Amino acid sequence: MCGIVGFTGAQEAAPLLLEGLKRLEYRGYDSAGIAVMGKDGIQVEKVSGKVEKLCERTKDGALVPGKTGIGHTRWATHGAPTEPNAHPHLSNDGRWAVVHNGIIENYATLREELTAKGYVFLSETDTEVIVHLLEYYDNGDLKTTVMKAVARLEGSYALGVLCADQPDRLFAVREASPLILGVGVGENYFASDVTALVSYTKNAVYLDDGDFAELSPRGITVYDCSGQRIEKPVSRITWNVEAAEKGGYEHFMLKEIMEQPAAVRAAIAPRVKDGEIRLEEFDPSEEELRGISKLVITACGSAYYAGCAAKYALESLCRIPTEAVLASELRYSDPLIDEHTLLIVISQSGETADTIAALKECRSRGAKVLAIVNVVGSTIAKLADWTLYTWAGPEIAVATTKGYTTQLTVLFLLAVFMGRRLGRVDEEQYPGLLYDILRLPRLIQNAIDLNHGIPALAKKYHSAASLFFIGRNTDWASALEGALKMKEISYIHAESYAAGELKHGTIALIEEGTPVIAVCCNEALEDKTISNIVEVKARGARVLAVAFRGDRKIVSQANDIIYIPRIHTLFTPVLAVLPMQLLAYYVAKENGCDIDKPKNLAKSVTVE
Ligand code: GLU
Repeated sequence: MCGIVGFTGAQEAAPLLLEGLKRLEYRGYDSAGIAVMGKDGIQVEKVSGKVEKLCERTKDGALVPGKTGIGHTRWATHGAPTEPNAHPHLSNDGRWAVVHNGIIENYATLREELTAKGYVFLSETDTEVIVHLLEYYDNGDLKTTVMKAVARLEGSYALGVLCADQPDRLFAVREASPLILGVGVGENYFASDVTALVSYTKNAVYLDDGDFAELSPRGITVYDCSGQRIEKPVSRITWNVEAAEKGGYEHFMLKEIMEQPAAVRAAIAPRVKDGEIRLEEFDPSEEELRGISKLVITACGSAYYAGCAAKYALESLCRIPTEAVLASELRYSDPLIDEHTLLIVISQSGETADTIAALKECRSRGAKVLAIVNVVGSTIAKLADWTLYTWAGPEIAVATTKGYTTQLTVLFLLAVFMGRRLGRVDEEQYPGLLYDILRLPRLIQNAIDLNHGIPALAKKYHSAASLFFIGRNTDWASALEGALKMKEISYIHAESYAAGELKHGTIALIEEGTPVIAVCCNEALEDKTISNIVEVKARGARVLAVAFRGDRKIVSQANDIIYIPRIHTLFTPVLAVLPMQLLAYYVAKENGCDIDKPKNLAKSVTVE
């Protein structure tokens, strides 16, 4: 999920690889390493921590001589960010080195198989299976060996492969993870994105999923997955470094909004096999599961709102009383928690101080703890009894988008999994629920595609002094996150209300032209929400509804409508939030705000 570089040519490789890795640092990472083809075989140097440390250790590459090599910045998914887990990984015979970005979903089976064949694993990563597969399939022909090994992999991978037998040769493989080739004169490169290439070459070859390439100083050959040679055009890199870092998007936030289909897929794919949800990292015994009398979700900010949204799915599918509590409140509330409570702790960074304190407080009262975090090896992951990673990849914009939707996705998988285990989701219900979860990545893409009109809507709404976000039940949870997004990045005051509650509270604040964003994706309650829309319209509100595509009722009620695709009501928050993320983004852009770094906010809040 982070960065890969590769170089083969007449220059020393290590300094170029280190420079390339520095260029990829913006993508976020926790460890780094290089492998260079030296006189006496492949030399690997790796560190847990920054590329700078790797530069110090190798005297800026001088201690790793050689003209062909691969480099990596790792964002740990399998195994803590330690030195043994850092890439490159070496085969047992020392002849193959591999760097990998992504996730190998079937690594557990492959690891078992390779261990039985006598291969020794030196790391906890999913990646290491690849290097042993290469050694296993090695038939003296690099290309067919790489193809055979890759054919065994399921998941997402960008790979860089080096083999001692052909010292100036590299292989680059791409499947659902970014990787491009750089074409030089007497030298060639690969990298995760153009930022690592622009200072060396402006000529790039873009690989498609399933393609792989063989590089030597003399040229590049690209093959499709069946090994057929294919011609790929050489494109001219026109982006400057700043544009390249953001993948051509103006802000990291927009890039991360667009990454949500892939991020949610990464959260789901390894956990659904043969029509069953398998949460290998959450394995309470049947008895432990039946002994749970209460679920308490605790978190801060958007992660708390993910908890508010998932409460409905957990209660409905598991039939266990569930409450979402702000971590900063829970910790001082003398909570009624005991060994029959399952505490679900949610945090993107895994370092949120209030959440850690709430976790410790509840743990001291006997609760078992399940963490849902993005950063592998983080404090919360270490403290919890079980951890389900969200696998969203690094999130750079301060306001979370893919972090939030992947948290929701994991919570929904958990709800269906537990409901099924407890026998409360029956045979009839289960396939439909699973089908909708599996469709989420595609539906997220549809929801994004349906919303090309949002920049124009932002022009209508950006000058508002205050906005209201309303909805009922699951829609209310979506409204909470929608309002937070708007406040965080546009600095416009936004208030979220349960739609039925507005009239008991501050409906007097609605006046001529006040924007009200009404989330109407809970069909059972739509008529009720429409009544609330009528109430606010009667007081002059301008209503922007978020509704299912094809919803006719809403057409005559709302001033503007943004549509999302239809899905099971319990899962709507994953889709309903998308247009609201985009609306917040474009409103903030209209207002000239610093979108990726909103004032007074930090990405990971490590203070109370
Ligand atoms: N899944 C691999 C690991 O945990 C690669 C992570 C990455 O993309 O950096 O080592």
